[in-house]
Amino acid sequence: MAIRKIVYYPADILEQSCREVTKFDRKLGKLLDDMYDTMIEFDGVGLAAPQIGIPERIALVDIDDESGTIEMINPRILETSGEQTGPEGCLSFPDLYGEVTRPNYVKIEAYNRKGKKYILEAEEFLARAIQHEIDHLDGILFTSKVNRYLEPEELKGEENE
Ligand SMILES: [Zn+2]
Repeated sequence: MAIRKIVYYPADILEQSCREVTKFDRKLGKLLDDMYDTMIEFDGVGLAAPQIGIPERIALVDIDDESGTIEMINPRILETSGEQTGPEGCLSFPDLYGEVTRPNYVKIEAYNRKGKKYILEAEEFLARAIQHEIDHLDGILFTSKVNRYLEPEELKGEENE
């Protein structure tokens, strides 16, 4: 296990589009394992590769529910619908929280670490976390979507993505 260093804003790598993964090898598996350890270490519910300095289309989400850890490689959003508004944070912006409106439902296509394609549907908080991470792969940060920033007293146990 290895904890990687988090890249904090501002950093160019957080605002650029990441490249597609072409090799599904052991190195990719090791990277995903390190990303998981790093996400857990920093109490996140998601982490994208650019947040540890790697400009590739790889992200994880784990909101600690029955879905388990979702590994997304080269993910693509196929469909969205509805709307939800709620608090959001990001491991690259320590102690910053804002209210963000996003689609309530998302359907994605992505690859797992073995290179197998899968389809996943999600709603509510899981859909929020997935969209937040996929945004990272296109250099889009949650701060560009914040309706209003939240004061510390408005937050109770919010988690970071
Ligand atoms: Zn984030």
